[in-house]
Amino acid sequence: MIRPLFQERRTIRMIAWFLSSILFNAFPATSSGQQPSFPFSDPSKMFEQFFGAAPAADRAELEQIEIAPRDETQIGERASREYLAALRRAGTKVVTRGDDFQYLQKLIRLVQPKMEHADRYRSIRLFLADSDETDARSFPGGTLIFYRGMLDFAENEAAMIGVIGHELSHLDRGHQLYDAKRMKLMHNTFSGANGFSPDKFFHSGAMLMRSFSRPFRPEDESQADKDGAKWAYELGYDPREMAKLFLRMHERDRGAAAGLPSFLRTHPYHLDRYKALMDLYNELQTANPNPKLVIGADDFAARRF
Ligand SMILES: [Zn+2]
Repeated sequence: MIRPLFQERRTIRMIAWFLSSILFNAFPATSSGQQPSFPFSDPSKMFEQFFGAAPAADRAELEQIEIAPRDETQIGERASREYLAALRRAGTKVVTRGDDFQYLQKLIRLVQPKMEHADRYRSIRLFLADSDETDARSFPGGTLIFYRGMLDFAENEAAMIGVIGHELSHLDRGHQLYDAKRMKLMHNTFSGANGFSPDKFFHSGAMLMRSFSRPFRPEDESQADKDGAKWAYELGYDPREMAKLFLRMHERDRGAAAGLPSFLRTHPYHLDRYKALMDLYNELQTANPNPKLVIGADDFAARRF
């Protein structure tokens, strides 16, 4: 997920919406007809209560759990469908055609083979949200949702390739699947190997909301940045353009982060991401020098590939 801090206020509104529509449905009305009050005021506390905080040690065990591609696809279908529906309800048009869409799709096809699990994610589904927000998201099974604002903010092909790589890296490394794996592990423990299903995964609605609110740990975001920049470099693009994108976000959002609930700050701060990517650029140039890296500003402006 690539998103400047100030836009997370919109996420808060979306979460509030999901809280009311999903969770109040999950708790039955009392006999007096009144809804019981929501048990936790902070959603992240609730998730931690239900699923634990996902410490690193716990990850090694979860890595061993397999989620079948079919189950992953079902999880992603459901989550992306609900997300798209929420966008449309909020009045945002979602398109799957046009020059921007075609151009993005070509860039995705260029980056996709860099994935370690390219076979598992052979077809990437793309949706373009007609909104000036600078956001991009990936969903299990291989669905990407890009906001048009992200495309405009990238300014050139090199930065866009990095952003696409970032989203594909989340898929490649199964970052969205840790909750499903944890749940599968629990079900295996209590009800044998066949206790898990995508339907059960979303049964309470809580997992669906979690997939919208705080899908990744900051470490996952840093890893996805690294993959995106490395793949861009291997494809001949200048990863410093991806770094500069975070610098521009930092400059734009300076001061806007004050008062933001910390549980929504899933991304390392923009400036840290900028610095990490500049360091990585130097490492890549040292290991495998390339004096002719592409920026692709003109091709980007013309949506020509
Ligand atoms: Zn991300």
